[in-house]
Amino acid sequence: MIGSLRDIWHHAWVSVLVEMSEQEIGWLLRSRNHISLLEKRRATMIVSRVRLVAGLFALLTPLWIIVDIAAFPREVWLPLVIARLVATFAFALILLLSRRMHYMRDAYRRLALLFAVPTAFFLYSYQHMAQFDLHGIQLAFSTGYAFLPFVMLAGLSIFPLTLLENIAFISPLLLMQVIAGIMRLPVLDWPTFAASFWLMLLIAGVSLLAGLSQLAFIIVLVREAIRDTMTGCFSRQSGEELLELQFILSRRSGNPLALAFIDLDHFKQVNDTYGHDAGDAVLTGAANAIHGRLRMGDILVRWGGEEFLLIMPNTTAPMACVALERVRSADRGLGSRPDGNPVTASIGVAERIADATDDWSTLVELADERMYEAKQTGRNRIVGCDPAAACAPS
Ligand code: GH3
Ligand code: MG
Ligand code: MG
Repeated sequence: MIGSLRDIWHHAWVSVLVEMSEQEIGWLLRSRNHISLLEKRRATMIVSRVRLVAGLFALLTPLWIIVDIAAFPREVWLPLVIARLVATFAFALILLLSRRMHYMRDAYRRLALLFAVPTAFFLYSYQHMAQFDLHGIQLAFSTGYAFLPFVMLAGLSIFPLTLLENIAFISPLLLMQVIAGIMRLPVLDWPTFAASFWLMLLIAGVSLLAGLSQLAFIIVLVREAIRDTMTGCFSRQSGEELLELQFILSRRSGNPLALAFIDLDHFKQVNDTYGHDAGDAVLTGAANAIHGRLRMGDILVRWGGEEFLLIMPNTTAPMACVALERVRSADRGLGSRPDGNPVTASIGVAERIADATDDWSTLVELADERMYEAKQTGRNRIVGCDPAAACAPS
């Protein structure tokens, strides 16, 4: 028994953790340093599941009204029915008002609302029914209400939350159980209370593991989906998402955002003369060379075959040119071609504020046009910089 449990634990966790980097394991604990693509995927997933649960509860909550009316006398069921209708309305609102959300702060709010509604309903119905001396079938139905916190704890398992987030959502639910116990203090049956609290702790533990393993799964999926396997750069699709996010952040903060469109020169010759594998090696070498000299926060995207887009947040065009010039004129530059000649590139630079652009795709088009101009005017150069900056070809 212990042996098979250890095996299950190993497959469920150790093998997942071995696959994850130290940084990614840190992401399981807290969300502070999550990369924006992970944040976006997680927020979208949490909000869509909040909507799913809210929709389900908006349907199920009023259905039980029939049972309440059949089981209880009017003075018991009437307030319960009103509470159910209010809860149904609140669930429907959560469902309707939570569309297309990409930020975790929105996801937290929706999740908190989703849990606040049944919490309020539970506390209200619990204290309401405590006033009556119910027996037999009525008592059986009234104890059904006491299971709500268990359902909520179990429901937490469908959300990919970090350890800290799980604790933040689990603690109020446990606290609520304690408050419910205090409400019944004079008649509290301690052994039953202790047993049900222990059961809640067990369910909370299982939910926590389920949520964490979902998060681990998303982290690995996001990592695999966002990178181009050959060069290690961000893929075109994730690059577009990142650029869109960076553009929004830059517009909101008023900080500059520079783009460099980098196209290798005469790359086809490498393929034609030395074969596709040699071409691949040149491409990977160029990507590594750029990566090696990036600032923290710069994002290198493989935009097309031998075209890269470098996203530089908080960077003006002259600053971008200085950085790119540093890459170009460094010891091995963008690497060597199989014949020993240096790999060169034509680069077009555009910047959100200096170019007064309102959307990221126009900024990419501008950088692309300038790259083309660099090709036309002799290749191995950067176009789009302030002439005062050090951008002239060497
Ligand atoms: P220019 O200086 O005008 O940019 O010339 P070029 O030869 O670099 O430009 P062109 O766009 O004509 O050629 C790009 C080539 O890149 C064509 C394509 O076969 C090659 N290519 C695209 N993706 C890959 C890849 O993943 N691996 C390899 N080896 N070659 C690729
Ligand atoms: Mg090209
Ligand atoms: Mg080219």
